[in-house]
Amino acid sequence: MPAQAYDETNIFARILRGDLPCTKVLETDAVLAFMDIMPRADGHVLVIPKAPARTLLDIDPGSLATLIVEVQRIARAVKQALVADGVTIWQFNEPAGGQEVPHLHFHVLPRWNNVELRPRTGATDKPEVLIALAEKIAGALATGG
Ligand code: 5GP
Repeated sequence: MPAQAYDETNIFARILRGDLPCTKVLETDAVLAFMDIMPRADGHVLVIPKAPARTLLDIDPGSLATLIVEVQRIARAVKQALVADGVTIWQFNEPAGGQEVPHLHFHVLPRWNNVELRPRTGATDKPEVLIALAEKIAGALATGG
């Protein structure tokens, strides 16, 4: 079966083009990391490739290798900056796999002992809250995470 075409109008494509704002944590030539606008935990970061890939299954292996290294860097920085006990990584493929935005992304979620993830309510966090968290995480990245 041929791969489904990449949808240039998806939200993350629009963020990558600068058509929509985001709270950036890290940007490289190949990768963008930014705060999830409806976080399931304080410090919930999304890490995406700049390459127009729908899912983990269709990205080229070289771009995936670059991406996963940045996921690890972000996970380390999130854990350090927010003094987390652990980190949960989510990655969903296609609607049947739980994916809503059709641009490949990894979720990085800091976790604390005995603290549940927030339920999915669709509530957005205030920009100033996301900015403060992004600055903390970027600070940890700058010192090696
Ligand atoms: P998925 O279910 O596709 O893995 O998750 C998509 C994620 O993108 C969700 O966690 C959702 O909160 C987040 N999201 C959706 N729209 C936006 C947006 O406009 N900006 C940001 N920063 N995150 C978004």
